[in-house]
Amino acid sequence: MEYFKKIYEGVSTTLTGMKITLEHLGGKKVTNQYPEIYHPIESGDMPETARNRLFVDMSGCDGCDSCAKACPINCITVETVRVAPDDPNVPDMNNGKKRKMWVTLHEIDFGKCCFCSLCTLVCPTEAIYMTKEFEYSEFDREKLKYNFSNLTPDECEEKKKMWEDHQEAKKREQEEKKRLEAEAKKAAEELKAKEAANTDTSTSESQSNITSVTETPVAAVVEEAPKQLTPEEEAKQKEKEARRAENERKRAERLAAKANEEQGS
Ligand code: SF4
Ligand code: SF4
Repeated sequence: MEYFKKIYEGVSTTLTGMKITLEHLGGKKVTNQYPEIYHPIESGDMPETARNRLFVDMSGCDGCDSCAKACPINCITVETVRVAPDDPNVPDMNNGKKRKMWVTLHEIDFGKCCFCSLCTLVCPTEAIYMTKEFEYSEFDREKLKYNFSNLTPDECEEKKKMWEDHQEAKKREQEEKKRLEAEAKKAAEELKAKEAANTDTSTSESQSNITSVTETPVAAVVEEAPKQLTPEEEAKQKEKEARRAENERKRAERLAAKANEEQGS
């Protein structure tokens, strides 16, 4: 009995299914060929915590790379260039801070993204966030790579060159500074050596002067030749000797007179 009951159920469910199939066979088609045809959902219908396509507000992104590091499947690529000090056009960040980095590439590959939202949690400036946008299917996977950088390729090149030029100038400045320091050091050493040499020379000169002062009278005595007097000089010398002899005689007379006086007393 049980056997015939099961046969009945099998035949009836098959006929029920076939009936539904036959009903839709000539009826109106309800399947849409997504993504060409789809029923748009109003953004207001999306829940607050919905995870859809990401967006990066570049006025708040400083290229810290935290989102790329946090991404578990490495679908974020961030490339930056430091802002050169002589860059004339550097807008501040949207939080009022000075921009230090240009973000030349901030690419997210939505063909890989698993919408875990970790990148939005680690961003220090909340520049990356989930949007309500989920209708962005593509036939070409390359088109799912979104670059959010707001710099054109020419501007990226310009910023890179400005930073490289700045680095070159800084390097040259440091080399020049090193060269000047080395020159100053060398000059100081030369001056020191010269002063030391001058001190040695003056010491030896003063010693030789002392020697020559000591030796000069001896040499003068040894080397002094008899002087030849002129007739006038000879006459003057004789007169001088006569005066000296007269003075000697008078002094002897005074001494004799004094001795006589002492004997008489
Ligand atoms: S949502 Fe997750 S997977 Fe997608 S970019 Fe952010 S961190 Fe990566
Ligand atoms: S989006 Fe946020 S976390 Fe990612 S590089 Fe920009 S500032 Fe850093």
